[in-house]
Amino acid sequence: MVKKLRTTPIIIFMLEALLRRIPQTHPKRNDIEKELSRRWAGFRGEQSLDYYVESLFNREEYTVFHDLRLPISNEAFFQIDTLILSPSFFTILEGKYILGELFFDPNQLERTLDGKVDIFPNPIVQAENQQYFLSALFEKYSIPRVPNTSFVVITSPNSIIKPNPDYPAVSQKVIRPAAIRSKLDMVKQKFRNPILDKKDIQKVTRLLLKLHTPAWPKVMEKFQISEEELLPGIYCEGCNHLSIKRIRRNWTCTICGKTDKKALFKLLMDYTLLQDSKITNQKFRELTGVSSVHMASKMLKSLNLPYKGELRHREYELSVEQLRKLLDM
Ligand SMILES: [Zn+2]
Repeated sequence: MVKKLRTTPIIIFMLEALLRRIPQTHPKRNDIEKELSRRWAGFRGEQSLDYYVESLFNREEYTVFHDLRLPISNEAFFQIDTLILSPSFFTILEGKYILGELFFDPNQLERTLDGKVDIFPNPIVQAENQQYFLSALFEKYSIPRVPNTSFVVITSPNSIIKPNPDYPAVSQKVIRPAAIRSKLDMVKQKFRNPILDKKDIQKVTRLLLKLHTPAWPKVMEKFQISEEELLPGIYCEGCNHLSIKRIRRNWTCTICGKTDKKALFKLLMDYTLLQDSKITNQKFRELTGVSSVHMASKMLKSLNLPYKGELRHREYELSVEQLRKLLDM
């Protein structure tokens, strides 16, 4: 049973919003585009892993969670790509989409691609740390201790995993998606003693879903782009310009003439992803080009957003979830 699905990472929406909002000639554009394609590739790799996991373990004995981000302390979190929980053990799968020749040693992962060497943290150790943190979390919430394992799943089909005879963990724990089934059968053979009953599993499920805290990356900071660098205007999907204006109750492109009923929600989504989750009447008018305070107030009210404060000082609270609902309507 899959208890938590994987969704498109928020960073992808943030990077796409950023690309809509910076000039074509912006010096960071190339870096942002590269990061975006890297993120898409990583996400597709994880989805291919999910596909294997879900097609193989469509059975009652396993409870599967994709993409969990759980607290270590008040400020620190650890992330799990896929957690497979059974009554007698848990297994963590750490998906990696890394092109090139991959050489694992205990300290690092060395990747050679087009004659260039890059160093990454050792994912075998990363996955073992996740086992440790999850066991600690179980202990904290009085969940019986269960044996556990982890595997690193290389999801980029064309990368080469180089053997390392001095590091046996590579041959045991670094696998391809197709090997998940046989590895899991081995783990199952090894840990046959059921420890968690149905109630324990339900408790773990509730706990993990409650503690899961989605990341909110600071994409502007990451690329050192200030709010002043963002272009104003409302994006037209017809001609890819920031050229939509409010004309006689419609959002209409002043270049190609396309009207877009959802243009306002899209604008507010970009603002939420890149700038702030709060908006005032004044800020709303700056963003939309609507000049009347009264009209802006009417439009804001129609969005049914929660707010704080009265009159001129009123701050409306935007959220990605609420805007998605409006976009889907
Ligand atoms: Zn247009």
